Amino acid sequence: MQLADILENIFRLTPRQKSGLRKLGLFDMRDLMFHFPARYEELGELKQIHDLREGEKATIVGEVVRIKAEKTWKKKLNIAEGIVKDKSGLLQVIWFNQPYIANILKPGTRARLSGKVSRAKSGLVMANPTPEVLLPEEPVAIDNAILPIYPETYGITSRWLRYQIRKIFETIGPLPEILPKDTLEKYHLPSLERALKAIHFPKNLGEAEAARKRFSFEEIFLIQLNRQRARKRLEQERSFNIEPHTNLLKQFAESLPFSLTGAQAKAIGDILQDFQKPHPMARLLEGDVGSGKTLVAAGAALDVVAASYQVAYMAPTEILARQHFDEFIKRLAPFRIRIGLLTSSEARKFPSKVNPKISTHTSKSQLARWCINGEIQILIGTHALIEDRVKFKKLAFVIVDEQHRFGVGQRQRATKNIQPHFLSMSATPIPRTLALTIYGDLDLTILDEMPPGRQPIETKIVPPREREHTYQFIREEVRRGGQVFVICPRIEDPKEVKAAKEARGERVWSAADFGQGFASWDDVKSVKVEFKKLSGEVFPDLRVGMVHGKLKPKEKELVMKKFKNRELDILVSTSVVEVGVDVPNASIMMIEGGERFGLAQLHQFRGRVGRGERKSYCFVFTTSDEYARSRRLKALQEAKTGFELAEYDLELRGPGELSGKKQWGISDVGMEALKNIKMVEAARTEAQALIARDFELRDYPLLKERVEESASELHFE
Ligand code: ADP
Ligand code: MG
Repeated sequence: MQLADILENIFRLTPRQKSGLRKLGLFDMRDLMFHFPARYEELGELKQIHDLREGEKATIVGEVVRIKAEKTWKKKLNIAEGIVKDKSGLLQVIWFNQPYIANILKPGTRARLSGKVSRAKSGLVMANPTPEVLLPEEPVAIDNAILPIYPETYGITSRWLRYQIRKIFETIGPLPEILPKDTLEKYHLPSLERALKAIHFPKNLGEAEAARKRFSFEEIFLIQLNRQRARKRLEQERSFNIEPHTNLLKQFAESLPFSLTGAQAKAIGDILQDFQKPHPMARLLEGDVGSGKTLVAAGAALDVVAASYQVAYMAPTEILARQHFDEFIKRLAPFRIRIGLLTSSEARKFPSKVNPKISTHTSKSQLARWCINGEIQILIGTHALIEDRVKFKKLAFVIVDEQHRFGVGQRQRATKNIQPHFLSMSATPIPRTLALTIYGDLDLTILDEMPPGRQPIETKIVPPREREHTYQFIREEVRRGGQVFVICPRIEDPKEVKAAKEARGERVWSAADFGQGFASWDDVKSVKVEFKKLSGEVFPDLRVGMVHGKLKPKEKELVMKKFKNRELDILVSTSVVEVGVDVPNASIMMIEGGERFGLAQLHQFRGRVGRGERKSYCFVFTTSDEYARSRRLKALQEAKTGFELAEYDLELRGPGELSGKKQWGISDVGMEALKNIKMVEAARTEAQALIARDFELRDYPLLKERVEESASELHFE
C-alpha cells in the first residue's frame, strides 16, 4: 500500500460509499490519512448496566429493546427515547433533537453507547449518548478510551473511517518526515509518523493536541515557504522605474474637494517609493470600507501615466468597475487623462470626442486598438480585462480590487520579461495572522484612518417581533430624505423554487430535516418576494427598486443609477452591493436573514451607509429570536472596526466551519494555527531562514514536493 494509491482501487466500496468519499474530498490513501478527526469523544469506562452510577461517564454495549421518536407537546422538542439491555439489566436512553436516531438504532440492533448517566424520576438514564452500531458478533475493542469523531457524510461514518485508517497503519511502511529536523526539535513538534498516529488514535487528549499543533504548523509553514519563494522570485524580476512627479501630485491633492487623509498620503508615498525600485512592487493596500482606497489608486495611476506608461485596474463586479471609472473621471479630468472601461457587456472611453466632459460608448475592438497603441492610458474593467486578452503598449501598473473575489491565478503577467508593478486592494479586514500567511509575499500598507466627518453607524440586531417597529422607523427616515438598502440572502421565491424542484423530481428539504431551532431555507427572505411585499403592502407610497445578479448588466446599472440619483427610496438587493458601492445619501442598511452571512460580509454591508453627512443605521434582522441572541451578531454590534471584527470571527470560529477552506484554501487545522500569532510568526521565521539558505530546497526534496503540491491548493498565486 502506498500513499498515492487510489481508494476506489484498494477498497471494495458500495456506490454510496464511493460518492461519500468523493463528497469528503477523499481520493487517495494520503487524503484518508490526512482526514483528521473533528473532535474526540472520551468514552469512559466500559461497564455493565447494573454497575452504572449517577453522574459518571461510561460506555455500555447492549441491544436496543425498543425505541420511538416523538415530539414533546410542551416544548415541541424532537426526542428519541428507548430502552437497551445487556446481561445485567435495562437502561433508559434519550436523545434530544436527533429524532433520526430512532431510524438507526432499530429494536434488535446491537450498539455501543457512550455518555453521561443521570437520574430521572423513572430511574437512571443516559442522555444524548454517542451511539455506534455493532455487528452481532463484533468484538468490542475499547483499546482506546478516546474515540475520534470525523467529518462524516452519507455512506461514510466515523466508524468506517476508524476501521480503514487503523488497517492502513498496520500495512503501510514507515512514513518519511518532510519537515526539517531542527525545526521539529526547536518547537518540540512530533515527527510525521508519531503525529499521524496520535491524531487518529491518541492515548490521551494531550497527545492529540500536540499532533494537531504539528499539522497546523506544517500547513502554515508550507504556505509561508511558498509565499517567500514567490517573493524572492519577484525580487529577481525587473520592472519599470518610475520617478515621482511631485508637483503633479501636489496639484492632484489640491484639486480635490477635500484634503487627503494622512493615511492616504502615506499610502501614495509608499507606492511611489516602490515605483523607483528596480523590481516590481507587490503591495497590499488594506483599508476598511470607506477609507478611500480608490483615491490612492487614482493618485498612483496619475504618476504612472505622467511617466507615459499605462495602468490596468480590475474590479470584481460590473457595478464597481463602472463606479471606479466614474470616480477616476471625476478625480483625473483636470489632468486630461484618457480612460477606458471594459466589462463583458460594454466598452467606454473618456473623454468623448463630441463632449470632452463625458465618456462615450465604443466597441470592444476599438477599445482594444486604443490600448495597444497607447491612446488609452488607464483601462478599468472586470474579468473581461483578462478574458479578452487585452494587450497594452506599455503596461507598468496593475491594480486589483478585492483580489480574492477573482479566485485562482489572476495575477496579470506581461509578455515581456519585464513585470508591471502590482497593487492589490482589499476592504476585507482579515486577522493579522491570516494576512501574514496568505499575503506573505506582499508588502502591506494599511489605511487606518477614515476621512473626517464620518459618524459612527448605529447597529441593531432585530428579532422577528420588532419588524413592524423598524418599518416605521424606515418610513420616517425616508421622509427625512434618507435612502434605504434592504439585503436578502436569496433571489428567488422559495415557494417557486420548491415547486420547480418537485416538478423535476428532486428532493426538497424542509425545516423538520434540521430539527428545532433552525430556520429552514424556506423562511429565508428573497429579493423578489420582499420587493413585492415592500412595494405593494408595506411602503406603497415609497419608491422601491430591486437589483440582483440575474438582471442584465444594463438593467442593474439603470437601477443603481436611479438609486444614486435619489429617484428610488428603497433598494432591495442581494449581496451584489456588498463591496464598494458608494451612495452617500443612503442612511439605513437593513439586512434580512442576518445569521446567513459571515461577519466580514455583514460589516461590508454596513459600510454601504454612513458615507455622507446623515446619521446612519444598520438593522440586522434574524429569522429567529435564537439567532438574534447569538454571540456572533453581538460581536457585530460591539466591534468598531473591521479588523476587530475579523479577530472576533477567528476566535468564534468553531471546528468544522469550512469557510477557511472555501475562502482561502486553508484547512480547519491550518485555521487553528491562525489563532496563534506566535506559531504563525515562528512558521514565517523558519520559512524565511530556510529560503535564505536553500532557495531551491535542494536538501529537502520531499518538502519541496509538498510545497509545490500545496501551492495549487491555495487560492492566491
Ligand atoms: P473604499 O474603496 O476604501 O471603501 P472609496 O474609495 O469608495 O472607499 O471612498 C469612499 C468615499 O469617500 C468616496 O465617496 C470618496 O470620494 C470619499 N473620500 C475619499 N477620500 C476622502 C477624503 N480624504 N476626504 C473625504 N472624503 C473622501
Ligand atoms: Mg473601494
